[in-house]
Amino acid sequence: KPKDYQFMLRLKQPAGLLPPDLFILLDDLSRDYGQGDLRATTRQCFQLHGVMKGDLKTVVSSIMNIGSSTVGACGDVSRNVMTTPAPFKTPEYEAAREWSKVFGHLFRPMTSAFSEIWLDGEKAASVETWGAEVGEKFNVDAVMKHDTGRGVILPHPVEPLYGDRYLPRKFKIGVTVEGDNSLDIYTNDIGCVTVMNEDKTELLGFNVMVGGGMGRTHNKENTFARAADHLGFVPKDDMMELMKCILATQRDHGNRDVRANARMKYLVHTLGIQNFKKLVESYFGKEIQPWKEQKAFKYADWMGWWEQGDGNMFLGVHVDNGRVKDEGDFRLKSALRAITDKYMRPMIMSPTQSIIISDVAPADVAGIDAILTEHGIKPIEQVDPLARLSMACPALPLCGLAQTEAERRMPSYIERVRSILTSLDIDEEEIMMRMTGCPNGCARPYMAELAFVGDGMDTYQIWLGGSPVLTRTAWPFMAKMKDKDLEATLTPILSMYKEQRHEFEAFGDFTHRVGEAKIKEHCQGKVPG
Ligand code: SF4
Repeated sequence: KPKDYQFMLRLKQPAGLLPPDLFILLDDLSRDYGQGDLRATTRQCFQLHGVMKGDLKTVVSSIMNIGSSTVGACGDVSRNVMTTPAPFKTPEYEAAREWSKVFGHLFRPMTSAFSEIWLDGEKAASVETWGAEVGEKFNVDAVMKHDTGRGVILPHPVEPLYGDRYLPRKFKIGVTVEGDNSLDIYTNDIGCVTVMNEDKTELLGFNVMVGGGMGRTHNKENTFARAADHLGFVPKDDMMELMKCILATQRDHGNRDVRANARMKYLVHTLGIQNFKKLVESYFGKEIQPWKEQKAFKYADWMGWWEQGDGNMFLGVHVDNGRVKDEGDFRLKSALRAITDKYMRPMIMSPTQSIIISDVAPADVAGIDAILTEHGIKPIEQVDPLARLSMACPALPLCGLAQTEAERRMPSYIERVRSILTSLDIDEEEIMMRMTGCPNGCARPYMAELAFVGDGMDTYQIWLGGSPVLTRTAWPFMAKMKDKDLEATLTPILSMYKEQRHEFEAFGDFTHRVGEAKIKEHCQGKVPG
């Protein structure tokens, strides 16, 4: 297919929801109009690559007509709202899921232009206001009436919150529960953590963090990755208003002159969290309460079989770099289709590019396992932990911004790093690695323990010092590492780790503790370049 005429199409799937009929449709569309596979993103949605320009309308309208959406999956608006993908049927997990869907609706662009272009002006829902502007009471009933569970179509004559200029830049929101950092909560513009009553039966409100974001530009020191700051606690009745006030703060005060500095993280960084808080409070009309202490975050990918709390089970199926495909004896796409055709179970996209099949009756567990085995899919216990923890963005040849390979190179880097660990006799160590083809950071490399960020054809920046529980950013160790120098570069660092680590100390915590200067000193003369 000629490159200039093919497109990538990304869905918006609030909370990562993937109902069975939507998966069946996407499976068909990717075969009939795409490049034959589906790509699970790092924001809990699918994207289709290779859609020809002439087929766009058919594909977009098919997705909209099944009750899903592509509106706001790109652009300077609130993107897909993320949440922990674990489908536990507990009040706190259910609260995180429901509120993430409502935030998705609250900030959905309302312009009718989309349906006029892609649906020939068809209106799939009535024109109705739901209180999206600052100071208006948010009308949950009006929104949820149109909730298909997959995004709503609700054209509106004006954009009450976005106005006529939308936001300075894209805007990302995540919602999770105390202790569960399966979604990289600190990388969002707004991160919300549920705060429950003592016996965890009732939602009291949210701890809110602001100002996270990954994207940066090589050699521009005024662009940087940033972990969010804690803003404070907000009772649930005030939460809609607070979310609108934060978004309005960025709308009115974000940098519209320099696009590279337009994300809200730069506004939070420039003002400082206390001044940013005061600015938000000037919209909010009241003080934001102090952050409530909560238990420490852990990282979980929710792979394998779990009891979900209502007698049913869920299964996390690992997807290497999010690519749902058939290739030789490995037939993941066909396996998911066979499981869906037979059992029609809802699925959930995970924040780490994998897929969770939920609401499985215990009697169906063996049948689903058998289908996966027949299609060459290994159980999670047989997946290399390095692969399980890793992520890579699509990069070449699919992304126009890519400076080098990522998704296609990551499997070989997993093998090569595995060989280094084996040769050093530290095979038991699990290291979270992430790779991107450019500094934009779509696979959130700056949070990983070891990251490769493309900075030229077949060269990478190496980042060290991220946390295994994804709560701080890493630092750049070196630039322009040539692909052929991977072993020569990493062996001195990993042998230093072997010699000097504390008991149970993770690689990212070790490099963070020891610090840039000592690691560079240790590697002096041993590392190429
Ligand atoms: Fe493209 Fe860069 Fe994002 Fe990778 S990180 S998908 S190369 S923009």
